[in-house]
This record gives sequence, structure tokens and C-alpha cells, in this order.
Amino acid sequence: MSIAERREYILGRIEAAAKWAKRQAGEVSLTAVSKQQPDERIKAALSAGQTVFGENRVQEAQKRWGDAFADHRNNIELRLIGPLQTNKAEDAVCLFDVIETLDRMKLARAIMKAADKTGRIPKLFVQVNIGAEDQKSGVMPSALPGFLKDLKSELDITPQGLMCIPPAGEAASPHFWYLNNLAKDHGIKNLSMGMSSDYETAVKMGATHVRVGSALFGNRGL
Ligand SMILES: *Cc1c(COP(=O)(O)O)cnc(C)c1O
Repeated sequence: MSIAERREYILGRIEAAAKWAKRQAGEVSLTAVSKQQPDERIKAALSAGQTVFGENRVQEAQKRWGDAFADHRNNIELRLIGPLQTNKAEDAVCLFDVIETLDRMKLARAIMKAADKTGRIPKLFVQVNIGAEDQKSGVMPSALPGFLKDLKSELDITPQGLMCIPPAGEAASPHFWYLNNLAKDHGIKNLSMGMSSDYETAVKMGATHVRVGSALFGNRGL
């Protein structure tokens, strides 16, 4: 299958999953995760009409979207889905429309400082460590209420969404369900969850943004 065909297939599965959940397919946006993919595949996705892309590394994304595909930059939405170091906050603010991995106050302060300086303010999602795993980034679910309160009171930030990566090797749906409930508790409308192996489940559980890499582009490896 070509990338255009795979994209149509995935959009069809998203639509079917949305219908199952009595939702509109238009409520769900497909983020094409272009990290570590060769240029010709990105080109194919752009030609097929894909306009939302996700990257997990600032430097790699700068090379791709600030250089090789700079002509397309203004016509796409670029989302950072990987961890962000505070010393890269300004670069990230300059490049990305959405940062999905906000998970600590120090980073929030660095982003706001960069926003003041550059006049660009990306939309922000909070990453939740939904399985409360030791090594994983993201705010622990138990710490989320306090974190949201601090974001609001100190920086006047109201995040637009929550994002999670469920623990590997576990059924994803309880984790998706949990993230959905956390979002509802706090009046947050957007949920970034679901990857190649579980995006349909995520849509059934309320995802508004699914992040699909290999199922769209093929296996990674530049
Ligand atoms: C790489 C990555 C994806 C895409 O993974 P696939 O399994 O290839 O779809 C989604 N989300 C995040 C945070 C990633 O790092």
C-alpha cells in the first residue's frame, strides 16, 4: 500500500471507531508521526493531504520542518510529542504549534519566558504518566490537580489537552479511560492518546488526537 492508501485506511478506521462511540469523525485529528522517517515518505504524506505532523525531538524537527520542508511549514500544524528540556524551550516555542509534553513547572516557566521573548505561544497539553511508571515522563495522576492549579495561579496557563503513553505490554483501554476521566474532572477538552497499535481503541475511549507513525509511514530508521 502507498502512504496515501494507508492514510485513507487509517482515516476510515478512525471514522468507524468514532461511529462506534457515537462520536463524529471530525472530532478526531490524525497526527502523522514523522520522526526518523525519510523525506520521500514525508513528501508522500504531504501530497496525500496530511497537514498535522508530530515530532519527538526538537533538533530533528528543526532540520526537517525548518529546512528540508520549510516551504510547507506554514501550511501544517506541528506538534511536539517527545520530552522537552528547558534549555530547548525557546527553540521548541519557535518551531511548534503545540507542545504536548508539558509535565513540570520549571518547563512551564521556560516556555512562558520563551513565549514572552518571541511573541509565539504554542498550545499546551499536559503529559500524564498514566501508568505511574518510575522511569516515564509525565505528571503522576495523583499530582495532576496540584500541577494544573500551579499552572493557573503562577503562569495563568490553562492547558488545552492531556496526553499519555500507556505502559508497554498492558491493555491500553483502561489507561485511555482513566485519562478521559481525568480530563473530564478538570474540564479539559482534548485527549492525545493512541498510536499505531491502539489508535482505534483510543478513539473509542475519547481521543481527539491520535499519534500514528509506523502504521502510516512504515518502519522507522533514517
Ligand atoms: C513514536 C511515537 C508515536 C508513534 O508511534 P507508532 O507506534 O509508530 O505509531 C506516538 N507517540 C509518541 C509519543 C511517540 O514517541
